[in-house]
Amino acid sequence: MGSSKKKGQQRKAAKKALAAAAASGGGEDSTVDGGGSNSKIVAKIRSGDNKTTKKLFTAEGMASLSFISYEHSGVLSVVLQFLKRCESETFDGVMNSVGGDLKSPLLWIRVLVTASYVEPSCKLQIAQNIGSLISCMVNDTERRFFKSSKHWRQGIVRFFNLVMNIMETKEKDALENMQIVEALLQHEGLLRFIIQWIFWTEYRPDIVKELKSEDFLRSTIIRLSGRLIEMLVLSSGMKGEGGNWLLEIGSTPIVSKEYDPNFMLSYTAKMVNQLKETKEKKHKNVFKMVRRLIRDADCVDKGVITEMIDWGTNCVINYDDALKVGILFLDWIYQGAGNRYSNDTRVAFAIREGLIEMCLGFIKRFSEHESFENDDELPMHDVIRCILYGVNNISLHEKTAKAIRNKRSSIKEKLVRLEQDIIEGIEEKLLRNGKDNSLLQIESILNLNGSYCCRCNKSLSKTEVMQCNGCHRMVYCSRACQKEDWLNGHMLACCSTASNETAGTFQGRYWPERVPSDERAATKLKEIEINMNMIQLKLFLDRSDTIRRQAKDLNLPLYDCVVLFDLRECPPTVNIEEYTESFGVEDEIEGFEESRSKDNIMCVYHSRMYNRSSRDELSMQRFFPHEWLKKQGK
Ligand SMILES: [Zn+2]
Ligand SMILES: [Zn+2]
Repeated sequence: MGSSKKKGQQRKAAKKALAAAAASGGGEDSTVDGGGSNSKIVAKIRSGDNKTTKKLFTAEGMASLSFISYEHSGVLSVVLQFLKRCESETFDGVMNSVGGDLKSPLLWIRVLVTASYVEPSCKLQIAQNIGSLISCMVNDTERRFFKSSKHWRQGIVRFFNLVMNIMETKEKDALENMQIVEALLQHEGLLRFIIQWIFWTEYRPDIVKELKSEDFLRSTIIRLSGRLIEMLVLSSGMKGEGGNWLLEIGSTPIVSKEYDPNFMLSYTAKMVNQLKETKEKKHKNVFKMVRRLIRDADCVDKGVITEMIDWGTNCVINYDDALKVGILFLDWIYQGAGNRYSNDTRVAFAIREGLIEMCLGFIKRFSEHESFENDDELPMHDVIRCILYGVNNISLHEKTAKAIRNKRSSIKEKLVRLEQDIIEGIEEKLLRNGKDNSLLQIESILNLNGSYCCRCNKSLSKTEVMQCNGCHRMVYCSRACQKEDWLNGHMLACCSTASNETAGTFQGRYWPERVPSDERAATKLKEIEINMNMIQLKLFLDRSDTIRRQAKDLNLPLYDCVVLFDLRECPPTVNIEEYTESFGVEDEIEGFEESRSKDNIMCVYHSRMYNRSSRDELSMQRFFPHEWLKKQGK
C-alpha cells in the first residue's frame, strides 16, 4: 500500500506543478497548439524521445518543461496515435519508424494515466480513442500488447489505473462522467474484462502467476474493480443507457470463455453465492446489487436459480436471511407475472431444483416468527404466497407441469408431514389460523398438475396416456373412454371432424380464437390446452358441493348455469352465473340455447398463456352431465 500512497502524493504534486506552470510561464503558450516549448515537446514525443516522454508523468519533469496542457498542446493525440498501432505492430517496429529511443510502450499508458488525473477534460478524448489498447489488454488468454506478452504484463496495472481514473465518479458531476463512462464501455469486452478482473485471484492462477511481481494486483485491482462494478450496478438505471450495462454485467461469466469454456457461473450467480456463503451483515450492498440485477435486468440464469435455492434450503440461518431469498424469488417471479413474461423453462428449472420444498421449509421453520404474518414492510407469508401464485400462473405450461408432476410425491410427502404437525398442534400458530393458505396453494398446484382421463377422471401414469388422434388435445385412460367421449360430444368438437365454428363454440377453446401462426406459439398453446383438458373434469368433481350450493342460492336450474373456473387464482375460484349473464351477445345466447340440453351443465375455464413476447388469456369450455355432479356429492 505504501507505493500507492506515494503515487497519490506524486499525483498531487503533478497537479500542483501543472497549475503553477499554467499560472506563471504559460502566458504566451496558453492558446491551442501554442508555439514555444510545448510544440517542441510535442515534436519530441512524436519522435519517441524517452527522456521527454518520461518527464510527462512526474511533477518535476512537467515543471521543468513548463508544460501547459496534454490536450491542447497535442501531446495527447500523439500518444493516442502511437497506442493505436499496438494491435498490428511491434514496439520496436514503431520505434524504428520514428527513430526514437523510448524504452517501453508502458510509458505512453502512464502519460494517459497522468493526463486523465491532472487534466480531467482529457478523459473523453482518451475514452473514445483507446480501442486498440483495450482490445489488446482485455484478451487475457493471449496477453499481448504490441505483440509482446512482456509489454502486456508491464502494461496491465497501468491500464487498470487508467480505466479507474477515467471512470472515477464524484457525485456532483455524475452526468458528465456518464458520458465518459459510456464512451469507455462501448469498447467491446472492457466491461466483461473488469468483471472478470475481480475474480482473478480466485479463478485465474495463470494470471496470478504471471503478475507475481505486481503485489499491487491482489489488493488494489480486485477491490477497486469490485467497487467500480458495484457503482455501475447501483447507479445505472438513473441514466437511460444504464439498463444495458445491468444486463451485460449480470450475465457475464466471471471467468473468460477462452480460458475455460465450461465455466458458466455468471456475475449474478456469483454474487448470490457470496450472499449464501457469508454469515455477516456487511453484504448489504451485495444484496442490493443482486436485487437490481434480478428485478431490473432479469439476470436470472440456471446458476442464479441453483444458488438461490441452495441458499434458501441449506444455508439460511435466520428469518431475515430467509426473507431475503424469498424477496429475490419474488422479484424474479413477479416480474414474470407482471410486465415481463414468465418463462416456462426457468420456472420448471426452479421447481426441479426444489423451489416449492424451499417454501415449505420456510413455513415450517419460520411460521412461529413474530414477523411471519405481520410485518410493517413485507411479511414472509405474503412473499411465499406471491411466489406460489407466480408458479401457479405458469403451471399448466408444459415444462413446469412436467416438473411439478415429477416432484409430486416428494412434495406431497413433506406437505402431509407438515399438515400432521399442524393437526398435532406442533405448529401452533398455523393451527390457530386454520390451515395456512400457502399449504392450500401448494395442494392446489399439485392437484392441477396431474394427468387425468378427460372422460372418467382416472389418474394416469405416463404410459397410460392415450391421445385423441383427431385433435391431439384430449387424453384418455382407455379406448372405451375415448369412444364414450366421442359419442357424447367430442365428435362435434374434435377439430378433425367439426368445422372451426362448432369446435370453438361450446366445447374446447374459445379464446384465443385462432391458433397463432408462429409455430412455437402454436405448440405452446396446444400443450396448455392438453393440460387444461385433463383437469377440467377433476375441477368439476372436486368442487361439486360449491357448484350445487351456488346454483341453489341463485335459485337456478343446473342447465341454466354457467360455471366459471378461474385458474389464474390459486386455488382456482368457482363462480356460477346464469347463462344470459355470461353471454352478452344475442347470437351467443342463441347458440347456447341450441346446443345445451336439459342434461348438461356448462363449464368455462380461464387461464393464462405466456409466450416469449406475449401474454394472453386462454379460455376453454366443456359440458358435463348434471348426473356426475350429484353422484360426487353423495
Ligand atoms: Zn377413462
Ligand atoms: Zn379430438
